[in-house]
Amino acid sequence: MDFKLSTRRADGVFIVDLAGRITAGYAVVAFRKAIRDEIANGHHKILLNLRDVSYIDSSGLGELIMAIGTVTQTICTSCGATVFKDEDGNWDPCPQCESKERKTWGQMKLSNPGRQVTDLLQFTKLYTVFDVHESEQEALASFSTPR
Ligand SMILES: [Zn+2]
Repeated sequence: MDFKLSTRRADGVFIVDLAGRITAGYAVVAFRKAIRDEIANGHHKILLNLRDVSYIDSSGLGELIMAIGTVTQTICTSCGATVFKDEDGNWDPCPQCESKERKTWGQMKLSNPGRQVTDLLQFTKLYTVFDVHESEQEALASFSTPR
């Protein structure tokens, strides 16, 4: 089955329905674009529905890691610029306004992973990095309210 992607909204959460195989090439590119669009539109709560995903390869997994890294990046509370850690792992002040107040940009969760995806996430020890839920209902309920 080819890769398919569509988006919808429920309870203020933007759900990306993924189906088929998330592999190098078209699927990875389309997924990356979809996540960029959600972020550009200020959609802070993103749920990836994996129910109909049959297979994820290492490129697809790499893209999922990129996506969660982007969505959960740390930003300056005052101006919204991305804030980074220094070499010792301490937070630098905001590069734009020197503020030391920071917050996480958004939340991303996964729901309904199939057998191969569950095995892949457990084998790579990423199951805890991604907030994985067995059902969409459960995943939607787990999003915290905006601060
Ligand atoms: Zn700032």
